[in-house]
Amino acid sequence: MSQGSPRDGFFRHVAQTSDAPLGLEITDADGVFLRTRDGREIIDFISGIAVSSLGHGHPEVVRAVQEQAARHMHVMVYGEFIQRPQSALAARLASLLPDTLDRIYFVNSGTEANEAALKLAKKHTRRHRFVAFRNGYHGDTQGSLSVTGRDVYRTPYEPLLPDVTFCDFNDPAVKELITGDVAAVILEPIQGEGGIIASDPHWLAAVRKRCTETGTLLIFDEIQSGFGRTGRLFAFEHYGIVPDILTMAKAMGGGMPLGGLASSSDIFRAFMFDPPLSHVTTFGGHPVSCAAAEAALRVLMRDGLMERAPEIERKAREILCGKGIVEVRGRGAMLGLQLTDAETTRKVVTHCLEKHGILLGWTLHSNTLVRLAPPLIIDQTLLEQTLLTIRDAVSRVAEDL
Ligand code: PMP
Repeated sequence: MSQGSPRDGFFRHVAQTSDAPLGLEITDADGVFLRTRDGREIIDFISGIAVSSLGHGHPEVVRAVQEQAARHMHVMVYGEFIQRPQSALAARLASLLPDTLDRIYFVNSGTEANEAALKLAKKHTRRHRFVAFRNGYHGDTQGSLSVTGRDVYRTPYEPLLPDVTFCDFNDPAVKELITGDVAAVILEPIQGEGGIIASDPHWLAAVRKRCTETGTLLIFDEIQSGFGRTGRLFAFEHYGIVPDILTMAKAMGGGMPLGGLASSSDIFRAFMFDPPLSHVTTFGGHPVSCAAAEAALRVLMRDGLMERAPEIERKAREILCGKGIVEVRGRGAMLGLQLTDAETTRKVVTHCLEKHGILLGWTLHSNTLVRLAPPLIIDQTLLEQTLLTIRDAVSRVAEDL
């Protein structure tokens, strides 16, 4: 077994998921900056993909982690012992959510939140069909992948869950698909990996109405859009439409792994009986992650960071126009910069990182869209400078092609 540098270990022993890893060797990160072993300072303009909304290593989150780690770490599988960080976080979240979402089940990640939501919907409704959307993304475990709407990722793993029907996002035809034998409709109010596509408010209202009429549960996956990224705590608040189950993760833990689903006591009863312990997880709601999440939520609310999201959107729309730019899409600090083609997009992302130390990225289902998701704490000057640099990079690349 070879034991060389971290670089060796990474390239020789860490399993890779692409043949072109960025391979930046991170030594530390704080605020909007990532620092590398070769002395580069990189602006994280995607927040570790919608995670580090408070910036990296927020001091209050770090303190909460240290204090809780010193007090106790794992003690018991979720839900059997009273653990202060879980209870406090659940109560705080419930106070910020509608009354029908006043219970939270904690897990470790986004995909686990969706797994639990799909199982809960099945057990509560005693139905097994699902309706999901093309270009939706819900995670990579088998249940979440079953409702993820992109064949290229699904096909290698088939057979997946049977009885999932896909519809185009924002297509009114979905109403005919939501029938009395459908357990749940799962969707992102703003599709993230699909290319930052917002749902139409009238369409979403029609989906809600049809679900209520047919006793079908409506699951909103706000794993990417939650925790202030769009300017409200959750994106559904922009629409005035409340789901039956809300899934969350990513920014929730302030940089620690944590996910959850919120629903009503009535719906969650399905996990308690026939049989008891119908769904459990050893590490879900880890006390250190919950302590971090509680601190992150406190900072988010206290410091008015969500108010930064519409400002970030306004500046992005103002600055990002001109040669090579098709449009800026999305809401708040969950934005996409639509370019003309895949080659330009690849070159812009590479150029921004190599020449300007700005980390951007694609979304999973679109190679012509640059993801923009800066930390909400980014200061105005750096925000404007970065956006101007991106605009200039697009126009330079577009001219060269
Ligand atoms: N749902 C959405 C909307 C997501 O954006 C993601 C992650 N990109 C997931 C689910 C999966 O989350 P995780 O990677 O934590 O499993």
